[in-house]
Amino acid sequence: MRIPYKTIEIFTLSFANNFNKNHMKTIGLIGGMSWESSLEYYRILNEKVKSELGGLHSAKTILFSVDFEQIKILQHEGNWNELTEIMIDAAQSLEKAGADMIVICTNTMHKMANEVQNSINLPLLHIADATAHSIKDKKLRKVGLLGTKFTMEQEFYKNRLIDKHHIDVVIPNDNDRDIIHKIIYNELCLGNIKDASKKEYIRIINNLIEQGAEGVILGCTEIPLLIKQEDVTIPIFDTTTIHAEMAVLEALKE
Ligand code: GLU
Repeated sequence: MRIPYKTIEIFTLSFANNFNKNHMKTIGLIGGMSWESSLEYYRILNEKVKSELGGLHSAKTILFSVDFEQIKILQHEGNWNELTEIMIDAAQSLEKAGADMIVICTNTMHKMANEVQNSINLPLLHIADATAHSIKDKKLRKVGLLGTKFTMEQEFYKNRLIDKHHIDVVIPNDNDRDIIHKIIYNELCLGNIKDASKKEYIRIINNLIEQGAEGVILGCTEIPLLIKQEDVTIPIFDTTTIHAEMAVLEALKE
């Protein structure tokens, strides 16, 4: 039996300013969920390394990209066992290929983050921990959560925020969760960014503000393609950017 490697503890990142340019860690990415957001990860990782190190420095990465149609079908069938096997296989392939740490480029597929973590000898940078760190930095206590129905409704994400990070979470009502979910799979993951959908998301975020949300987690890595900070009156937490930038800080840490 493998000894589980502890997930990366984010609070140490604030001290991560002693970068060693010659010892950047290789970030293993499990992506393709969807590739529209994996592209964003790749861009943000490289931009962050460039802004931290300058010159022609760029991120050392290995990408394991899946076929998202297959993933989407299994998710909607509720076949999480098979999905867990796929994710473990991807993480182990990245470990064999020489990755030093693992980043799962989707919120939803953190449902099996513990199983993935326990199957490898590398640290996994959990997207909800990275996001919680950013929320606490802004001293917010109650946030809205937008994402797939799996992320909004199941316990794996919300409970991590509530139990581990003591952040209150509000989610949209049934009907609005359905709207958000369908826009993710039928539009955003296909690269379709529509004004009408943006209006719907803004309406839903405004409802969350009425329920006391002081900020809103864009808890699906494609939502930042649709919603920007200037669209809403409360701070947004763009999980794609937060996760990718923290992965770079971790990769540069001595
Ligand atoms: N990228 C999305 C997320 O962050 C949804 C796609 C998926 O189901 O993985 O949850």
